[in-house]
Amino acid sequence: MGLFRKNKQVSEERSIPNRASSDARVAACPNCGGILKKVPGAKTKCPNCHEYMFVRTDPRTNSRLVVTFDQAEEIDDEWAKLNGTWPERKAERERVAATRERLAKKWNLPTVSDRDVRWAMLSEDVVAALRDHKWAAYQKAVFDMALELHDTKKPEQALPLFILAAYFYINNPNDALGEWWSEGYVSGPAEVFDYVGLECELLGITSEEGLNKYSERTQREAEKLKAPVAWTAVREMILENIASGK
Ligand SMILES: [Zn+2]
Repeated sequence: MGLFRKNKQVSEERSIPNRASSDARVAACPNCGGILKKVPGAKTKCPNCHEYMFVRTDPRTNSRLVVTFDQAEEIDDEWAKLNGTWPERKAERERVAATRERLAKKWNLPTVSDRDVRWAMLSEDVVAALRDHKWAAYQKAVFDMALELHDTKKPEQALPLFILAAYFYINNPNDALGEWWSEGYVSGPAEVFDYVGLECELLGITSEEGLNKYSERTQREAEKLKAPVAWTAVREMILENIASGK
């Protein structure tokens, strides 16, 4: 559920107890070497080269650094090896590489963008989740697809998927318990409702209009699934949440 809560300020570092680390950050871009006005405290775009700079603590030296994307990935690898998440991280990376290679071959291109690779993987995740009736995994993949569409400024395509993700969010599926639906929905703000409201704003329509016009897929799937909270009730809850978030 963490993904959907209003919790965007997640620390980029892994939560391993920190001994006092030494601060080795400098006011220079690790990509282009350009001098910065101040030392970055978190992920920032360099005003000179417009590449992102990242802040990480390297567990090998216990020092805090401003690094490039590749260096940040390497440091995150080291943390993953320390905190036991390396097998998943490695498997994910291999999947990305294999997907990229497969798409390049299929489309006869020298390389494929990160976005295309992500989209292909999310599409596979949706198919697998539907096949296995893993509704929590389905909810996550649908939400991530909607985010991709939001990022590429396609509100008309993003909105139906955010509505679908909100329907599942309220019905609270739990794949780990091997049941479709767990205890039930606790009313409160969540990112997914904010996005439903935001896409409606981007389309220049009210939330009510958005939920009427863009909920066809959700209604169709709700009809088949018969989750505990029906579409009509879900619709009211989404509207309440958007109204209270304003
Ligand atoms: Zn730079």
